[in-house]
Amino acid sequence: MNIRKNDTVLVIAGKDKGKKGKVRFAYPENKRIMVEGVNFIKKHSKAQGAAKQAGIIEREALLPVSNVMLLCSKCNKPARVGFRFLADGRKVRFCRACNEVID
Ligand SMILES: [Zn+2]
Repeated sequence: MNIRKNDTVLVIAGKDKGKKGKVRFAYPENKRIMVEGVNFIKKHSKAQGAAKQAGIIEREALLPVSNVMLLCSKCNKPARVGFRFLADGRKVRFCRACNEVID
């Protein structure tokens, strides 16, 4: 998966299309991510002891990683991501728009 936790992404599909946010969680095995402020859902919850109040809570839901594009921190564009190997053998991501290494 080419999106990771703490990346800034642009939503390109779905009801939050056009929003930007930081990736809070990434689940590569499900190809899903959670992005700050994106894909809010309302959840009805019952009280569970003193810590949790009953009511409707809003929180972000997971969205498919295919709905977002990485925003390149170097050129500030939604970037198609490529991979390359550094001289020391590390595999890093790079932005296909400006060619800068992202990691
Ligand atoms: Zn770039």
